[in-house]
Amino acid sequence: MISVQEALRILRDNIPEPRKIIIPLEEAYCCFLFEEIRAPESSPRYTNSAMDGFAVRWIDCKGAGKDNPATLQIIGESQAGIPFDGEVTVGTAVRISTGAMLPAGADSVVRVEDTSENKSQVEVLDIRSLGQDVRSAGEEFKEGEKLFSKGYRLGSRELALLASFGIYQVPVYAPPKVSLLVTGTELASPADQAIQPHQIRDSNSIMLANAVREVGASVHARMHVEDSLDHTIQAVQQAADSGDDIILCSGGVSVGKHDHVKDAALAAGFTELFWKIRQKPGKPLFVCKRDNTLLFGLPGNPVSAFMCFHNYVRPVIAELLGTSSVNRTITAKTTEMVVNNGKRTNFIRVGIENKPNEVTLINEIAQQGSHMLSSIVNADGYIVLEPGENLRPGSLVEVYLF
Ligand code: AMP
Ligand code: MG
Repeated sequence: MISVQEALRILRDNIPEPRKIIIPLEEAYCCFLFEEIRAPESSPRYTNSAMDGFAVRWIDCKGAGKDNPATLQIIGESQAGIPFDGEVTVGTAVRISTGAMLPAGADSVVRVEDTSENKSQVEVLDIRSLGQDVRSAGEEFKEGEKLFSKGYRLGSRELALLASFGIYQVPVYAPPKVSLLVTGTELASPADQAIQPHQIRDSNSIMLANAVREVGASVHARMHVEDSLDHTIQAVQQAADSGDDIILCSGGVSVGKHDHVKDAALAAGFTELFWKIRQKPGKPLFVCKRDNTLLFGLPGNPVSAFMCFHNYVRPVIAELLGTSSVNRTITAKTTEMVVNNGKRTNFIRVGIENKPNEVTLINEIAQQGSHMLSSIVNADGYIVLEPGENLRPGSLVEVYLF
C-alpha cells in the first residue's frame, strides 16, 4: 500500500500532455483556451443608437426644453437591420431604434420619451448633451485589442463575446474523452421497478457521469459489465481501443473472487501504476496506463468511488482540460473533537456553517460509512486526517470543498 501523497505524485507524473484542438464555438463550452484571442475588428462595428427615439443634430436642438421645444421634420427611419440611406440635415430628424445605425449627419439621439410627435414633425422636449445615447464604433474594443488571455475558460458569457466578433473556431485544449464501465452482477438500473431482493440499484453511473460533467468534461460511453473476467477484458479493450483518455471503472477492484478489473486491465495491455492506497475510504483504488489512456479502477462503494473521483480523477480531468485549479479549499474551525485512531489517512466528511464575521465552522458528519451516500450528500467537503492525528475543538483545519 502506498500513501496518498505517493499516489498523487505517481498520478501527476503520468498525466498525458493536454491535446490542442480548434473547434467550433458551439462545442467549446467549458473549454480552456491554449492561446490568447484578440479582436479581429472593432466593437461596436458601427455607430448606433442606445435608445428608441430620433437621430438629430445637437446644434438643432441645443437648449430645447418643454417650454421651448425644437421642432424638426421627420425625414425617414433607421431600423435595426434596415439603415436610413439619406442624411440628417438642418432642421430634420430620423426615427431610430435601439441598435440601429446612426444616419449620416446625426450626432445625438433623443429618446422617444423626450419628444412629442405631430404628423411629420417631432418636437424635442429635452436634450442634455452632444452625442447623448450614441454608441460609438470601437468604443468597447479596438481592432487587435486582447479579448482573452491564454488559459481562459469559455463559459456562456465568453462564448457570447466571441460570437459577437464572428470568431467561430476557437483554439482550446481538447476535452478528455471519458468512458464509464460499471461492474457488478448485483446491479439493477434505477429505473427498474421489478428489482430483486438481492439486487442493488446502480447509483455510481449517474454519480460519476455527472461528477465528470461538473469538472467540465463529459462521459461519451457507458457500459454495464457482469462480474466475469472475459466480459471485463472485452469491455476494457473496447474502451481503450476507442481512444479514450480516461476509463472510469466502478467496482471489482478489491480482493474478492469476482473482482476482475485489475486482471482485465493487465490482460488488455495496461501497466499498473498503483493499487491500494493507505486511505479511508477508497483503499482499493487501482490506476493503470496504456499509451495515453489512464484507467481508474474505483471501488464500488458509492462514497469510496466519489471520494476517489474527487481526490484523484478530478485533478487529472482538469489538467487535461488545461487548468489546474479545480479543488477549492477553505480554512475552518472544528466545533468538536475529530480523531483518526486508524492506520490510514482519513477523508472525514464535514458540514460547514457560516456565521457573519466569523471563521467558518465545521461539523463531522455522524455516519461516515462508505456505503452511506448521505455522508457525501449532507457534507460540504472533507478534511484529511493522518493516522493518530487528533483535532481539539476550535482547531483550524483545511477543508476541501465538494
Ligand atoms: P465492489 O467494489 O464491486 O466490491 O462493490 C462494493 C460495494 O459497492 C458492493 O456492496 C456493491 O454492491 C456496491 N456497488 C458496486 N457498484 C455499485 C454501483 N454502481 N452503484 C451502487 N453500489 C454499487
Ligand atoms: Mg462488485
